[in-house]
Amino acid sequence: MAQIRIENVRKDFGSFNAVKSSTFTIEDGEFFMLLGPSGCGKTTTLRMMAGLELPTSGEIYIDGEEVGMKPASQRDIAFVFQMFALYPHMNVGKNISYPLRSQGMPSAQVKKKVGEIAEILGITDILNKPVGGLSGGDRQRVALGRAIVRDPKAFFMDEPLGALDAEFREHMSEELRALHDRMNATTVYVTHDQLEAMQMGDKIVVMNHGSVEQFGVPQDIYDWPATKFVAQFIGSPSMNFLDFNGMIGKGGNEVSLNDVALNIPKSIDGANGALSFGVRPEHVRLDDAAAYRGRVKATEYLGTTQIVTLETANGDVKARVASSDAVNVGDQTGLSFDARTITLFDAETGQALR
Ligand code: ATP
Repeated sequence: MAQIRIENVRKDFGSFNAVKSSTFTIEDGEFFMLLGPSGCGKTTTLRMMAGLELPTSGEIYIDGEEVGMKPASQRDIAFVFQMFALYPHMNVGKNISYPLRSQGMPSAQVKKKVGEIAEILGITDILNKPVGGLSGGDRQRVALGRAIVRDPKAFFMDEPLGALDAEFREHMSEELRALHDRMNATTVYVTHDQLEAMQMGDKIVVMNHGSVEQFGVPQDIYDWPATKFVAQFIGSPSMNFLDFNGMIGKGGNEVSLNDVALNIPKSIDGANGALSFGVRPEHVRLDDAAAYRGRVKATEYLGTTQIVTLETANGDVKARVASSDAVNVGDQTGLSFDARTITLFDAETGQALR
């Protein structure tokens, strides 16, 4: 078990700055997600924490000890790769016990430990099978078994489910999370899949172009995105942005979009210039009496809900409404937004205004 803290950690590859100065803490026992699009620096950040890459500057602490320049072998951690390479000439049990045998643990103890791990992973019946003919899920379980058998302080996983098909991936992600809850070991997990991050993570770091955009629990990141990038990256369909030029006085609680006054959170401390009114599709209500108007451009049936795309004077807006609501392409309707669910952004910097 371990607390991991990175402080002002930066990584350059030659003249390319892959990770900008980053600081955050992963608490003991957390299932922690590093989330972001391809190339944002999440794998490099994970590799620095694991000791597979050295930071250009900054410090990495595991349980208070600075380990930034220590190799992986001295950090007491386990890495689970996407391409979980198993030893093909060994059976399942031997694959799992390999780290213990190579440490010289007596065989009776090894047997007991492997038995416990196989029980946890539900693979007792395949311990004597060769790994060659195993399904993807069983290979993943064996790889996990080999990682957890040493009782490491922390687990590092880089898109471990990336090679699996969608249905199986969901099943394995539930299994992984359940396994974590049983063992309670600090786990750092890299993914580009926002849904996976929201479903599995206790906390999430969202990265973009080498920078930490936001750090927090999934619900806060969803409800209170710190930047336009986060608001767009998390949630599907993503948040709507209505761009406008405006001025809000200190303590003001409305903005004018095409001469229609819309309520905004009262806490905003005044703003001026190019702004962006952000609202999630499930917080857009179709309300004939509302003054802000739109025309239905398309509907997309999703079972219990439907996504309605509306053309407005500030661009397209998507609304998620009940499928039972009668909505037809060509309809003119009003749109209303609950001020408590609005995020206002500075359109130039992308920062949320609070
Ligand atoms: P992906 O999901 O595609 O792996 P990522 O967010 O994990 O993306 P990184 O693998 O951390 O991103 O890479 C961040 C940036 O650093 C990328 O532009 C990548 O090309 C670059 N990079 C990574 N490793 C090296 C290296 N050894 N030498 C040079 N550039 C590198």
